[in-house]
Amino acid sequence: MANESKPPLIWLNIVLFLSTFIVAIVLVPLYGYFYGYSTAHFVWLVISFTYCGMSITAGYHRLWSHKAYEASKSLKYIYALGGAFALQNSALHWSSDHRVHHKHVDNNDKDPYSAKRGFWYSHIGWMLREYQSERYSDYRNCRDLQKDKVVTWQHKHYLPLALTMNFGVPILLGFLHGDIIGMLLIVGVLRLVLSHHTTFFINSLAHLWGSQPYTNKNTAKDNGLLAFLTFGEGYHNYHHIFENDYRNGIYWWQFDPTKWFIKAASFFKLTSKLKKAPSSKIELAKAKQTLQNTQHSLASCSGTQQALTELENEFLRLTRSVTEFYETKKHFLQISQKGMSESYERSLVAIRLAQAKCELVQQRKQWQALIQLTLTKYSVQKS
Ligand SMILES: [Zn+2]
Ligand SMILES: [Zn+2]
Repeated sequence: MANESKPPLIWLNIVLFLSTFIVAIVLVPLYGYFYGYSTAHFVWLVISFTYCGMSITAGYHRLWSHKAYEASKSLKYIYALGGAFALQNSALHWSSDHRVHHKHVDNNDKDPYSAKRGFWYSHIGWMLREYQSERYSDYRNCRDLQKDKVVTWQHKHYLPLALTMNFGVPILLGFLHGDIIGMLLIVGVLRLVLSHHTTFFINSLAHLWGSQPYTNKNTAKDNGLLAFLTFGEGYHNYHHIFENDYRNGIYWWQFDPTKWFIKAASFFKLTSKLKKAPSSKIELAKAKQTLQNTQHSLASCSGTQQALTELENEFLRLTRSVTEFYETKKHFLQISQKGMSESYERSLVAIRLAQAKCELVQQRKQWQALIQLTLTKYSVQKS
């Protein structure tokens, strides 16, 4: 009997996930068909969905799990209430699980939602049975968070907070708009189901579907579509290699409202000490992955020794250019901050920086050209 070896079912979670899902797909449209919803229902759905989502991404994830920035106490309370509203356990528990996920990513025995156990397990299955129950209350990897008064307050009062937010907010809105049942269905249940599954996608789809521009040492993927559904968390390949960066989408065109929010809040002193991975490390991680992908493509071709040597040499030249440019830039900024704006040394470093920039631009072009040329040449040989 295969079932005998499986851990016991967690009926509370099964009933919760199943009942809310059924209500969302059956009762929500039926009520709409018979009684109709107003614009207010949908406006509050978007607001409450965004509040829950951002409390998880900006609060539970980037602030508490990864310490990617610091936040004011008032903002922490807002996240703590939003996290209870999102019904994803306390910030302490969530962060503990998530830190284990990063430390042991893809390890089926240790990663709480290992994607190597398949879509279902990493999406929701891991919460339906008592997997890893032995470390359920072990928060030793979150000693820092146990000193955070907002985190401990939320953890201690999690159940009443979760019930108050999940029933209190929709009922209050129902009173205001004259439709308590409609608001309970839309802001209560539909919002909860959407919030649950979009967050769960980060553990499931973001480890299964997308590209790996920075590393293929784990299953994490970058996926712009998922970023759209998850307030920017879809750039998961980047996140798994630079987990303490407050950004997930690092380019201006990447959809990362969590990053925009954290940055905007810093102008109002609600957030501070925003951490960023060094640009040189990001660029070199990407180039290294491109090198490995190209080497992998050439593995099945014959007579590639010279091309492989050229690639490695070009990669070393790029590494030198990147390091030179960013170190000179750092030096230049240090001199400028010291108030030596008119000094002779500053002028010399400025000239060196301009040269390093030119060389780097040229080197990047050469690197891209060599990769293209190599791939084209050997794809011809393959066909
Ligand atoms: Zn992950
Ligand atoms: Zn993370």
